[in-house]
Amino acid sequence: MSDKPEKLITDDGLRLDGRRADEIRPMKIEIGVLSRADGSCYLEWGKNKILVGVFGPREAHPRRSQRSDTAVIRYRYNMASFSVEDRARPGPSRRSIEISKVSREAFEPVIMTELFPKTAIDIFVEVLQADAGTRTAAINASSIALADAGIPMKGLITSCAFGKVDGQIVLDLNKEEDNYGEADFPVAMTQDGDITLLQMDGHLTPEEIRKGLELVKKGCKEILEIQRTVLRKKFETPIVEPEEET
Ligand code: ADP
Repeated sequence: MSDKPEKLITDDGLRLDGRRADEIRPMKIEIGVLSRADGSCYLEWGKNKILVGVFGPREAHPRRSQRSDTAVIRYRYNMASFSVEDRARPGPSRRSIEISKVSREAFEPVIMTELFPKTAIDIFVEVLQADAGTRTAAINASSIALADAGIPMKGLITSCAFGKVDGQIVLDLNKEEDNYGEADFPVAMTQDGDITLLQMDGHLTPEEIRKGLELVKKGCKEILEIQRTVLRKKFETPIVEPEEET
């Protein structure tokens, strides 16, 4: 790991990657990138690279995992061993199990599981390159992959973190800020702004949390616009004007 830079935010209020406190990293989304999945998404957010495949609703196996009144959502977050600076140990870890659980719960309020009893909806997340904020990036990508699979949802989920760096509240931490910052606070929300994931690592005052949540709302709004643009491009059928008779 590199040494802590003297300052993570310059006197002009710029962060090391040139962003202001309230700016998210550039995000790029591709939809439908896997031919064998029902829905898929490849997302780059800053240096994060995430691939998501969604399968289902399909008959849940083993049978004892089925629920007679609803579909079960299964979310598996996995980090490729080459995704981080030091090799990540393959297989599930406490961290990946926790992220899988909270991310599944972030989607439960919007996926209309009651329409598909006895089935499973599987969301497989592969982190190909990690640079802080992989759980939020994966949730944004999963939202698109679920929509691509045609899974009925009450709306999209968007996700973004805020944190405290050099005593300042900033949006969407990168790896250096995550390593040397004072706090990291990932959030996911519905498009109506209802929070479906909220975690905190570090110490923040209630006032700092209020300020951070305002920043996150702004970030999520921008992400929702990016998600909507990608989905519109794929699903909106162009209006073809009838040719005028001559
Ligand atoms: P998130 O990626 O959602 O921010 P964390 O806060 O747990 O989750 O991790 C922050 C960053 O630390 C990750 O994005 C990744 O760059 C790095 N990291 C996480 N786990 C490992 C690991 N096992 N080995 C090396 N780096 C890791």
